[in-house]
This record gives sequence, structure tokens and C-alpha cells, in this order.
Amino acid sequence: MFRHFLSAVVLALLAGPVFAADKPNIVLIFTDDHAYQAISAYGDPRKLIETPNIDRIAKEGVRFDRTLVPNSICGPSRATVLTGKYSHRNGFYNNTNSRFDGAQLTFPKLLQKAGYQTAIIGKWHLGSEPTGFDHWHILPGQGRYYNPPMNKDGKQVQHLGYVTDLISDFSTDWIKNRDKTKPFLLMAQHKAPHREWSPALRHLGHDKDRKYAEPPTLFDDYANRGPAVKDQEMTIEKTFTQLDAKLVPPPGINEEQLKEWNAYYEPRNKAFREAKLEGKELVRWRYNRYLHDYLGCVKAVDEAVGKMLKTLEDEGLAKNTLVVYCSDQGFYLGEHGWFDKRWIFEESLRTPMVARWPAVGKPGLVNASLTSTVDLAQTFLDAAGVPADKEMQGASIVPLLKGETPKDWRKSFYYEYYEYPAPHRVIPHYGVVTDRYKLARFYVPKLEGKADPDYWELYDRQKDPNETKSFYADPTYADTVKELRAELDKLRKDLKVPDETPKEAFGNLLVPPKKKK
Ligand code: CA
Repeated sequence: MFRHFLSAVVLALLAGPVFAADKPNIVLIFTDDHAYQAISAYGDPRKLIETPNIDRIAKEGVRFDRTLVPNSICGPSRATVLTGKYSHRNGFYNNTNSRFDGAQLTFPKLLQKAGYQTAIIGKWHLGSEPTGFDHWHILPGQGRYYNPPMNKDGKQVQHLGYVTDLISDFSTDWIKNRDKTKPFLLMAQHKAPHREWSPALRHLGHDKDRKYAEPPTLFDDYANRGPAVKDQEMTIEKTFTQLDAKLVPPPGINEEQLKEWNAYYEPRNKAFREAKLEGKELVRWRYNRYLHDYLGCVKAVDEAVGKMLKTLEDEGLAKNTLVVYCSDQGFYLGEHGWFDKRWIFEESLRTPMVARWPAVGKPGLVNASLTSTVDLAQTFLDAAGVPADKEMQGASIVPLLKGETPKDWRKSFYYEYYEYPAPHRVIPHYGVVTDRYKLARFYVPKLEGKADPDYWELYDRQKDPNETKSFYADPTYADTVKELRAELDKLRKDLKVPDETPKEAFGNLLVPPKKKK
């Protein structure tokens, strides 16, 4: 007994008390719907925007080129980050009827137990109240861009200003006023650049009425693929609202702000109305308006990142703070005629991620391994020297920050999307993703009876980088399909995916699919 006590003391001494000086701080800057195409470090051929501050994290750390999300939609992605688990293990499948079970184990809870002070500021979007945080200051639901109400440690507060600036200020103020005897975890989670993409007033006209280059698939005809790519509600052509197009002002904007807003939009909207555009010209006008607004939102996000990096420097924390910039998923900026996300296709599956930890990592690395947002929980725990929970389903990327990718690092990735047929419907699907291929099953769930349609597709990104063709029926791919099917079965088994998807996973709007015309 006494010996046990002694060895416990020795172990505790060896492990050392938790001092702010030796444990790294952790800052996750997490945005909503930020496409990697809209970060200059990733070099989109359209050269959409300069993001010097996000790029700086990549230059001084690692740019991850293939960070994939397990379920490409907001709430489920957040639940995955907190738990280090897929939707089918943390119970948060969709944005319509899922509510986060705050009693379950999360990485902030483990860090808190290990002596970290923990805070979450900005977008939460998980239904329940945050648990595992010493401080939280969150937007209700989706939140709004102008003058957002927020919830601060359980109390309603009303703010004046632009949401990205507010979240940025609250986050950096929290760092300045932190308990300096403890290491910290801060999750600074922006609403931007989520729909309706309302930029800060100072960024209106940032692009000087530029005409943006078009992606090669802006007018995709959806040939050579099954019905799923046609049966969706996310095209710039058909699903773009008045608010999306800024033909009406954003909610919450006050009179003074509206004057400035109108000064930019009104003359341009007047010209638009008079032009009476139709067909492709209408899509083109919307595409350019969309990019002005979306990229305007990104500009404020990049400024917020700059302010965060400067605050860490001013506080003498830059060296031993792990900073990760990441979005909850990728996004379409006109590819396939779309905005939104949800698909296993590259623009929505892949999210931008850059990370910097000067005390431990190497600068200027580029990593193309299959990483994921499901890895973040274990990464942060590993960085803090706190054992991860055995039920977590990712892997720590700390070795990758040092330029050492473990030999047994994943070569394939499991993806599954459920929500249907909520707004922006896309047909549920799951599949396996490798460096080159994607094999996926698409099906319309029915409460009873056989799914219809129900079919498989194979994508080959080497031959068809824009993913405009399924090779599933091509006999030359028969062996590939067979191998990928076996890999998919293995992943589903390893990740404990149930054979039968629970009905609630699809959300609360499940109705029989519309009859085809
Ligand atoms: Ca999102």
C-alpha cells in the first residue's frame, strides 16, 4: 500500500505539476464553410484571394493538403472535433434533429481534468449547452453577422458590431485576461464564411468589381453519373435566395450600418434589376456576387487570424502554443454549379488545415497524408501529454508537425453523410476514399422497404480530377472496385458502423422522394 503510494508520488513528480510554462497552449481557430480554394496558401488557379495571416501559419508550420471530414456538414463536424469520433459513435448525425449529448467524453473535458483552463468563443451550433469549458460565449444556433445576440456562460447578451470582429476581440481578450498559472485551450469558432456570406462593411467592394474566373464545371450537365448529382438543392442557378444575392439586407443590421450597406449594394442591385438577366448570364452574375460576398467574409477571418497570432506574440506565448486553423468542412465556390457542402466529392470532403507549434514542429512543411478533423481531439491531447480515450477514432498529427508521418498512417478514409431531405438535400451516401479513388454508395432512405435509387459510383481523381464521371461500370476498374469494397467493409468494421442506419440519423424531415418529371 505504502509502496504504491510512494510510486504514485514518484510518478507524479516525474510527470511534474501542470505549469503554464511547460505545457503547450492550444488554440483552435475553427471557421464555418471555409473552402480551401479561398486560402492563398492552397493556390487555387482562379487566385481568388490573398490570406496572408492564414498563410503565415502554414509557412511557420505545416500545410495539410488532404484533411478530410467524416460527415461534411456543420453540427456533425463540430461533434466530431469535440469527441474524436464519427457521427455514428457520438450520436450527432445531422443539423435537423441531432442534439449533442454533453454528458459524453470530449477532449476539452480531459484537458480540463489535466489542469488546463478551457474556453469556447463563437459558433457552437450543437443544441445543448457547452460542457467541459471554464468559459463559453457562443452564438445561438447559426448566429447572425450583424449585431449578434450571444450567450455568455448561460446569460443572454446583445452585441453591437460585426460577428467575426466580435469573436476575434472576445478571443484575444480572453487570452490576455487568462489565468497565467495554467495552460489553456481556446476554441475560437467563427460563423464566417457561412451562408449568407455577409461581409464587414469595411470589406464591401474589396474586389473592385472584379470578374472572377469560372471553375470548369460551373455549368456541369451532370452526365456520366447517377441521379444523386441531379437530385440536390444547392445550385447557384436554382437555390440562390434574395438574401444570398444581397438583393435584401442581412438580418440584424441597424439603420446606420444599412446606409453604408446600401451605398455599396443599391447601385449595383439597380443595374442588375434593369439588366433582367436570364440563364447562364444570371448564373454568372450570381457567381460574381457570391464570390464578392464570400471572399469579403474570408478577409475579416484572415484579419482575425492575424490578430490572434499577434496577441500570442505580445503575450510571449507564440513559441509554445499549438495553433490550428481549420474549417468544419470544405465548400463549393461554383464547382459543379454549386455552393454548400455535404458530398464525398473533393471540395466538400476536404477542409483546409494549417498548424503551427514552433517549440516542437518544423516550419514550412507540406503534408499530403490523409488527415482528418477526427484527428484533432487526439492531437490536442497528445500535445498536452494527456492520454486519449480508447474509443476515439482518429490519430494524433503531432508527429506530422515534426515531419514524421508514421509508417502505419491511414491509407484510406471512411465517409458518411446522412441528412435528408432537409434544405439543400443531397442523397445520403457513404464510401471509402484513398489517395486516388473514391468508391461510394448513394441511396434514398425509406422508412420501410427497399431504398430507391440505390447504386454505387467510382471516382478516379488521377484521370478525372474534377470528378465528372463514374468509372464503376468500366470493366478495366473491376479489380479496383473489388479492392475498395473490401477496404470499405474493413473500415466499417473497424469504426463500428452499424449495418442498419438508425432512422433518426436522416433527420426529422424524411418523406418519400419526389416523383421524377
Ligand atoms: Ca459548416
